[in-house]
Amino acid sequence: MSNSPAAEAARRRTFAIISHPDAGKTTLTENLLLAGGAIRAAGAVRARGENRRTRSDWMKIERERGISVSASVMTFDHEGLMFNLLDTPGHEDFSEDTYRTLTAADAAVMVLDAAKGIEPQTLKLFEVCRLRDIPIVTFINKMDREAQDPFALLDEIASKLALDPAPLFWPAGSGGRFKGMLDLRTQKFLPYAKKGSDQEEGHPDPVAFGGNAVVSYLDPDEQAELEEAAMLVTEAAKPFDPQAFLEGHMTPVFFGSALRHFGVDELLAGLGAYAPPPKAVKATKGGDATHIVPGDNEVTGFVFKVQANMDPNHRDRIAFLRLCSGRFNRGMKLKVQNTGRQLSVNAPIMFFASDRELAEEAFAGDVIGIPNHGVLRVGDSLSETGTLRFAGLPNFAPEILQRVRVKDPLKAKHLKKALEGLAEEGVTQLFRPQIGSDFIVGAVGQLQFEVMADRLANEYQLEVIFETSPYAEARWLTGERAEVEDFGNKHKTAMATDIDDQPVFLAKSSWEIGYVAERYPKVGFERTKERG
Ligand code: GDP
Repeated sequence: MSNSPAAEAARRRTFAIISHPDAGKTTLTENLLLAGGAIRAAGAVRARGENRRTRSDWMKIERERGISVSASVMTFDHEGLMFNLLDTPGHEDFSEDTYRTLTAADAAVMVLDAAKGIEPQTLKLFEVCRLRDIPIVTFINKMDREAQDPFALLDEIASKLALDPAPLFWPAGSGGRFKGMLDLRTQKFLPYAKKGSDQEEGHPDPVAFGGNAVVSYLDPDEQAELEEAAMLVTEAAKPFDPQAFLEGHMTPVFFGSALRHFGVDELLAGLGAYAPPPKAVKATKGGDATHIVPGDNEVTGFVFKVQANMDPNHRDRIAFLRLCSGRFNRGMKLKVQNTGRQLSVNAPIMFFASDRELAEEAFAGDVIGIPNHGVLRVGDSLSETGTLRFAGLPNFAPEILQRVRVKDPLKAKHLKKALEGLAEEGVTQLFRPQIGSDFIVGAVGQLQFEVMADRLANEYQLEVIFETSPYAEARWLTGERAEVEDFGNKHKTAMATDIDDQPVFLAKSSWEIGYVAERYPKVGFERTKERG
């Protein structure tokens, strides 16, 4: 029997891993699952990571939707805690998707390649975390390879991210001379055992750094060097302050090698000890501002992702619902706030790392998959009363706008439905100009169009052509209704609506936006649109 919703929420740790491609996110994911006892052998996640390397393989994988669906969330129970690891897509074209996934995470692990430090994609993703006040744990990976000076890496975190790094460990060497690391809190030395083969390996047990046993792992020079570095870092770095971490000013720093399963158990223990359980979430109830606390009785949650199901012949989809409060039971009825529709959640899916299972019970912090036929959309708020609305799932102004046509004109009607479906899933954005019958689709990156064409062909049997559109930018219009309408009437040829029927201004250049914005100071030209 489970505990109260508050107690169950308190043992949840829901987190995502962010990194630049190749820093080791997939390898770390796999090794965290190993450390958590969720999988027994390496390989399960790996295959997926490697398939991502090439674009065509990646498409194939996406088509085998089962894999990506079940890997979107990985849940495992370890030492009394329930960990929910949310997968964030690696490719930069999917930053919008990543952003939404991060809205469902309570913490993030930032993986850095020890030789490369902070790379462009790390920085972008970090900014997203900062925007959402998500506390960050740093894992400096690939210590088994030649690494940068750890002091330089800490400096980079401090200067590029404006975040106080608080190392909890300190490495002894790197690459061929990597010997292990010192736990700065306990003064225990964790020896690293080099192994040539790919066999699973064990590392020797930790030993007291001041004791005799350490000489089996470090020669006197290495010992002196580590001692001096540890002293220096203890003096130079601020001590780890859990509160500063939760507020997003400080990051605890771990070192290791995901590939060699070194430092991963320590990272998992650190997540258990320091990463926050779900916290109160801002919302409105019947129009009034409120806070939803994980221990509240009412079951509430929001959809942060929708994905087409495994079987392309059926239009069913899985909506990923992040729970924010209450005790969810299978079969429960939940209402969608914006449409008022009620839904019996009879077959919710929990994503246990090894398998998908039907969820009988779930609590704040958990993610359940709800199969549906397009009833649920990204940004939807669900609750028992249906009056609750969570804010803050944005759409971003696309960076590429293209006109899409279907090769067979008889299929134009199908195209509309298909484009709407993909827009509801958040694959691409859809804009319908007020004048003419064109469909304009928007995306943050080119790859999104390729995925879209691929899915239109495979799932909807539609062959499409993308053409350059006259538009370069899209902005959502906000402001007094009369002002927006007046603007719209005077710019009919540049007006469109999105899938929620919100007015959108399509501009030929960013200069044009500046120009009209100056003339219509009462109209807002927004780059993002909050949904929900
Ligand atoms: P992702 O793109 O961030 O998911 O990165 P992957 O996990 O796929 O790793 C990229 C490459 O780095 C792969 O060839 C991994 O085997 C390798 N790799 C990952 N972690 C480590 C590590 O700790 N040490 C070494 N030497 N290689 C690693």
